[in-house]
Amino acid sequence: MLNIRIEKTSTPKTLPAADDPLKFGTIFTDHMFVMNYDTGKGWHDPRVVPYQPISLEPSAMVFHYGQEMFEGLKAYKTDDGRTLLFRPDKNIERANRTNRRICIPEIPEEDFLQAIKTIVKVDEAWIPTQEGTSLYIRPFIIATDPYLGVRPSDTYLFIIILSPVGAYYPEGLNPVKIWIEDEYVRAVKGGIGEAKTGANYVASMKAQMKAHEEGYSQVLWLDGIERKYIEEVGAMNIFFKINGTVVTPELNGSILPGVTRDSVLQLCKEWGLPTEERRISIDEIFEAYNKGILEEVWGTGTAAVISPVGQLRWEDHIMPVQDGGIGEISQKLYDTITGIQLGKMKDNHNWTIEV
Ligand SMILES: *Cc1c(COP(=O)(O)O)cnc(C)c1O
Repeated sequence: MLNIRIEKTSTPKTLPAADDPLKFGTIFTDHMFVMNYDTGKGWHDPRVVPYQPISLEPSAMVFHYGQEMFEGLKAYKTDDGRTLLFRPDKNIERANRTNRRICIPEIPEEDFLQAIKTIVKVDEAWIPTQEGTSLYIRPFIIATDPYLGVRPSDTYLFIIILSPVGAYYPEGLNPVKIWIEDEYVRAVKGGIGEAKTGANYVASMKAQMKAHEEGYSQVLWLDGIERKYIEEVGAMNIFFKINGTVVTPELNGSILPGVTRDSVLQLCKEWGLPTEERRISIDEIFEAYNKGILEEVWGTGTAAVISPVGQLRWEDHIMPVQDGGIGEISQKLYDTITGIQLGKMKDNHNWTIEV
């Protein structure tokens, strides 16, 4: 049990108006959670303080060698006024997996959950209630030693900030166009692709820019060695429905093990759909498309939950999926997962936790 000191702001901000579009990641709540780590002392001084800038030495290690991790999950307000978290245990478990990979000290799972619950409770009034909105929770850890040598830091800051976010698709579920990248790669086995760390994102920006210039909203990565096997989308895992079977790349060490991915696999299995986690080559997808059996494609991630894919572009090949519309399974997955998150559907899996 953490003994969390709570210091409330004396100058609370005005809450966003009910019709504010809440552009993703632009508005932050009144408070943040902070905890320090020092070698020898462990994690200490857990506190909730007013949201404010942090002061670091220019030599702080995070600025130079990128030792940082992050997580992303959401809190939802139900119609009867309860606050729910969706599978936070999975995020916390993954956070510590990331920590182990990049030599950041782990945080005891129960302390991590207590920190999330505490900060969400303090800023509960910030959870928006309009259709499709939620409170995005961003825990992260940075290395703070003032040192230019290369080694794991001896000091860290663990911070949780909160951001009310609008509906990812203001006009309802909206298919995205995806660019299959065959030049740049995101990660390789043995690297840090399965860790949730900023370095994976900086590696992806060049291709993201290229895709945008071509009129595509996201990049689908191929494996780093042969540029042949499907990996994942920028911040989403990817699923294909081919001739009735739901297929997604296996967790091979270079893709991020998504919480939404796991939930989608469980639901598809329960619905009696054949599912496969395996290697999928881009040639197989192209062939399925040409045969007319590429039935649905969708991405999965906390931000959008389900992103139906309306078009894939690989080299000179343009592959429309579902005539650019939304597939039946994509829609059903979206309705089911958001239904559970908002407490509107029965949560048979105990996926939600009340704050
Ligand atoms: C966070 C993330 C995902 C999605 O994971 P969820 O737990 O479903 O939100 C997928 N890919 C990458 C690279 C990510 O960072």
